[in-house]
Amino acid sequence: MPNISYVDGVYQNYENSKININDRGYHFGDSVYEVILFNEGIFYDFEGHINRLFGSLNAINIKFHLSKISLKIIISNLIKINRISFGSVYIQVSRGIAERNHSYKGMNIKPLLSIIVNKKLNNINNKLNGVKAITLDDNRWSRPDIKTTQLLPNVLAKTEANKKGAFEGIFIDSDGYVTEGSSSNIWIINYNNEIITRAIDGQILSGITRKTVAQFAKLNGLIVKEEKFKKEELYKSKEVFLTSASSFVTPIIKVDDIEINDGKIGQMSIDLRNLYFSELHNYQ
Ligand code: PMP
Repeated sequence: MPNISYVDGVYQNYENSKININDRGYHFGDSVYEVILFNEGIFYDFEGHINRLFGSLNAINIKFHLSKISLKIIISNLIKINRISFGSVYIQVSRGIAERNHSYKGMNIKPLLSIIVNKKLNNINNKLNGVKAITLDDNRWSRPDIKTTQLLPNVLAKTEANKKGAFEGIFIDSDGYVTEGSSSNIWIINYNNEIITRAIDGQILSGITRKTVAQFAKLNGLIVKEEKFKKEELYKSKEVFLTSASSFVTPIIKVDDIEINDGKIGQMSIDLRNLYFSELHNYQ
């Protein structure tokens, strides 16, 4: 099985794909990224992810030299070369390579695009397992809405969760409200069957899966509310689930020491997950 990645115009073996030590992504986290899933030649939410990538580039003032179409061609080539049917694509664009200096003013550097394709086990039709989560203080910078590679608080949160046998760390803001997961958006379903997730208020990433799930749910007559909820509401919810490109819709059955829905996967979470897959394929 070939294992080819892409770095700055060159397709080559993963082991030989190297990034220059002066890359600003390496020094400063001065880079943005996306993760997109694909299945049998179909990308999940491709436009949404690519549009967000260009939005992130714009937000940190990186002048990217490639068009969306060129980028799509490179990504499609890479998947074909690797002969992978189900997996994820990791796309990173850094500001480029330059002698280390905080300010990039006057630097005439070309952004550096790197792409890695990962084969994943297609578990879409497997029996669904719920996951556990823990809560932690949200100690990230004030622009978590930009998808940069500065992910140290997220890395520490996810590791803390994993050490406690949980899958996800859920961030809580200084007023006690849930912001989002370390790598996911968080949702609750209350006893009126209302599906609730925090609004795009600058304190969370505008998740692509979040947007698609909300859209599909509304199209199917479900009530979706975008508003803040507290940690205590999370504990008392009928169902809790997370969304992300790589976890799709995943039910959460325990938060800290509290079992949700008696520790069982809720039916609405299952329905939303199935809806996500079926509608995604319809919309291609
Ligand atoms: N929030 C954070 C902090 C994330 O890292 C992710 C995953 N990229 C998400 C939310 C979910 O976003 P998406 O559905 O676009 O993968």
